Amino acid sequence: MAHHQVLIVGGGAAGLTVAARLRRLRPSLDVAILEPATDHYYQPGWTLVGAGVFSLEETRRNEAELIPAGVHWIREGVAGFQPDANSVTTTGGQLISYDALVVATGMKLCWDRIKGLPEALGQGGVCSNYSREHAAYTWECIQGFQGGNAVFTCPPMPIKCPGAPQKIAYLADDAIKRDPALAARSKVIYATATPGIFGVPTYAAPLREVVKRKGIDARYNHVLIEVRPDSKEAVFRVQPASPADSQGEESREEVISYDLLHVTPPMAAPDVVAQSPLAAASGFVDVDKHSLQHVRFANVFSLGDVSGMPNSKTAAAVRGQAPVLVDNLLAQLDGATGHGAYDGYSCCPLITGYGKTIMAEFNYEQQPVPSFPLDPTQERWSMWIVKTKMLPWLYWNRMLRGADHERRFIPGLKR
Ligand SMILES: Cc1cc2nc3c(=O)[nH]c(=O)nc-3n(C[C@H](O)[C@H](O)[C@H](O)COP(=O)(O)OP(=O)(O)OC[C@H]3O[C@@H](n4cnc5c(N)ncnc54)[C@H](O)[C@@H]3O)c2cc1C
Repeated sequence: MAHHQVLIVGGGAAGLTVAARLRRLRPSLDVAILEPATDHYYQPGWTLVGAGVFSLEETRRNEAELIPAGVHWIREGVAGFQPDANSVTTTGGQLISYDALVVATGMKLCWDRIKGLPEALGQGGVCSNYSREHAAYTWECIQGFQGGNAVFTCPPMPIKCPGAPQKIAYLADDAIKRDPALAARSKVIYATATPGIFGVPTYAAPLREVVKRKGIDARYNHVLIEVRPDSKEAVFRVQPASPADSQGEESREEVISYDLLHVTPPMAAPDVVAQSPLAAASGFVDVDKHSLQHVRFANVFSLGDVSGMPNSKTAAAVRGQAPVLVDNLLAQLDGATGHGAYDGYSCCPLITGYGKTIMAEFNYEQQPVPSFPLDPTQERWSMWIVKTKMLPWLYWNRMLRGADHERRFIPGLKR
C-alpha cells in the first residue's frame, strides 16, 4: 500500500493552494494530490467568458504546470474513504494510506435534477456559465438575442459563487441595452429560488437598486424544475414567501416563456463524499467551521466547495481558509494543537454591468470586511479592473503558489 504524510483529494483551487503552501512552509513533507483531470480552469473567469470578455482558453492551464514541484500527482479519483483505517481507495483500485487527509473535491453540478435540461443545454438559447462546455455559448446567445424574454435562474443554496447567476443577467442587460430598439422589445427576468437578491444585507441593498434602475423583473422563491425546449418554456415551482403568505397553499407552478435561458444548476457534494463516513447530514464534509478539522477524525481536514462550513463557497474563501488549514494540519502532524481560526471570509465581485463591480467581501457574521479603504457597497470601475485583471493574476501567481498574503488583495492593508 502506498503511503503519504499528507494526501490531498482534489487538485482544484483549494487542493493546489494547500499543496503549494505545505511545500513552501515545510519542504521535507511528503505530499500527494489525487486528481484525475489534466486541465485546471479558473472558474471565476467563466462569467466573463459568458459575457464575451475572456475566451475559455484564457481560463485554462495544464494541471501538470500547477502541481507544485516535489508534490506527487496521482492521476486518479478517489472512490472511497476509510478514515478509521487512515486510507482511501482510488478509481484505479489502489489503496493509499496517509498521516493527514485534506478533502477538496469541489461540488457536483446536478443538471439532471431539472427535467429536460440535460437535453436542452447548449442549443436553442439554453446556456450556462457553470458548464465549461457551454459558457462560451452564453455569449453566442446574448449576441444572437433578437428580443423577447431573457431569463436567468438561480437554484436553492448552496451553490458555488452565489452572485454568479445574477452577474450574467446584469451583463446581458447591458449588452441588450446597447441597441435601444432591441431593448424596447426585450425583458430581462431574474428568477431565483432565494427569498431575496443576495444573502448579505449590506450588499443586498445596493443590488436591489441595481435591479430597479435596470428595470429587471426579479422573481423570488422561484425554483426551476423543468425546461421545455420545444415550446421554449421554463417551469418554476414558486414557494410561498413565508408560511404567513401561503394561506394554506403549499406552492404553485409558473411557466415563463424564454428566448434566452441561462440556467444555474442545483449543486451538491460529490456522491463519493456524501456517502462516506466523513459527511455531515448535508453531504458536505463535517468540519469545524473555524479550525477546518473534521469533527470526528482529527487527522482529516477540508476546505473549498466540498467543506461543510456555512460560508459562501468561492475561490476567494479558499484564500481565507488555506493558511488556517495548513497551520492546523502542520500542528496536528507535530502532535500539537493548531490555533488557526477561519472567520468565514468570502468575496463575491458582484459585476453589475460592463465596467462596474460591487466588491462584496464579508464573513460568517455577514459583516463587510473590505480589503480596500473605500465604501464597498458602491459600484466601481476600479473593482471591475480588480475582477478582470488583478484577481486572475493573484489566483495564478500568488494563491495557487501558496503565497503569504493570499487572503487580502493588498498585503498589510490596515482597515
Ligand atoms: C460560473 C462560476 C463563477 C464563479 N465566480 C467566482 C468568483 O467571482 N469569485 C470566486 O472567488 N469564486 C467564484 N466561483 C467559485 C470558485 O470557482 C470555486 O469556489 C472554487 O473553484 C472552489 O475550489 P475547490 O478546489 O473547492 O473546487 P474546484 O476548483 O472545483 O476543484 C475541485 C477538484 O476536485 C477534483 N475532483 C472531483 N472529484 C474528485 C474525486 N472523486 N477524486 C479526486 N479529485 C476529484 C476536480 O477534478 C477538481 O479539480 C465561480 C464558479 C463558477 C462555476
